[in-house]
Amino acid sequence: MNETNNIFNRAYRYTRALSRWIKAGRPVRREAEIKRIFETFCNPCEDYDEGTCRYCGCRVNLMQVAPLNKIAMATEECPLAKWDGNTMNTIVEPPRKQMIATRENTVFLTIAAYSDYEAKTEVLCKSAEDHGVSLVFCDTGELWQGFYHHKIERMTKHVKLFQKAGKLFAFIIDCRDVAFIESIDTILKKFNAIYDGRVIFNNDMPTEAWPSCNDFLTQAVADAVDDQYARLNAGAFAGEIETILKIQHLAMALRQEMKEGISRPGILTKIYQDMGTKYLDDDQHLYQLALIDSPQLFQMDCNKELFAVLSAYPKDLREISDDPRRHDVINNAAIIHSPWLSHGQEWHDRVFQNQWER
Ligand code: SF4
Repeated sequence: MNETNNIFNRAYRYTRALSRWIKAGRPVRREAEIKRIFETFCNPCEDYDEGTCRYCGCRVNLMQVAPLNKIAMATEECPLAKWDGNTMNTIVEPPRKQMIATRENTVFLTIAAYSDYEAKTEVLCKSAEDHGVSLVFCDTGELWQGFYHHKIERMTKHVKLFQKAGKLFAFIIDCRDVAFIESIDTILKKFNAIYDGRVIFNNDMPTEAWPSCNDFLTQAVADAVDDQYARLNAGAFAGEIETILKIQHLAMALRQEMKEGISRPGILTKIYQDMGTKYLDDDQHLYQLALIDSPQLFQMDCNKELFAVLSAYPKDLREISDDPRRHDVINNAAIIHSPWLSHGQEWHDRVFQNQWER
């Protein structure tokens, strides 16, 4: 390794590589091409050292997650010219809509936070039943409660099982606080109308979302999706299972990176520092970090065409439903998400009666 190739040079090179890649629209190589380059060139290379290229300092591996693997970034090449960046034919565009979601190919999944989930999720279960949604409860919370990354792991496991069983799409729904307010056919129709191949997430208000906001993170999310107010809420999201699995894999890889204290130049390190270990396990923050890393996988429902998040509203649900000026919050939505839904018995009937229908 070159003597001048110290940590600062490597950090500088990584920053340049990242900005080159972002500028080019974040193109990534296909899985087979990543495998070919890694196995043919990097793995046997004398500069390869346990997942890192000692020459350039970048991480090289088999992962398809571009920022965590130089080979996946289609703008990059070997600093010793063993493999080149001229592989435009291998570039993968952001996912594109190819199929439509139907009752048959879509699964609605939830993981329950508590063993007594039947009582705690009354609103969700009843609203699913009323609107023809066949909802699958995967686990109870003993397996993940208090460790939110476990929630992602458990969900990944179940999503894979449904993929093996032939499902193509999944709606991932928080076990509490969510209610369906349209029929299954309308939900799917609205989803198909806006779906473009990226996983659609709830969009929340920037200042009120749970857990408490990190300003830097909020701003970075808004910048990544090019919307002033966008803030990801993981309470409900939907898309092709294949892309959901990529997002979950990326979220877990980022968690591991934070846990190991791996620092990288740029915005993610700043966010890691600001958040500290306090939010390391929070699934919502992990999805937000994943979005900042790979925005081409995420679509935010900024116009609330599919989901409405009510948590940003200072009044309770009853007041919202009684106030016509607030009906715009859910005018278009098919699914609503709010911490208040299951916290007050008297609101339940209002949800089921769909008081806000036009
Ligand atoms: S990028 Fe090039 S120098 Fe670095 S490990 Fe791979 S083949 Fe070797």
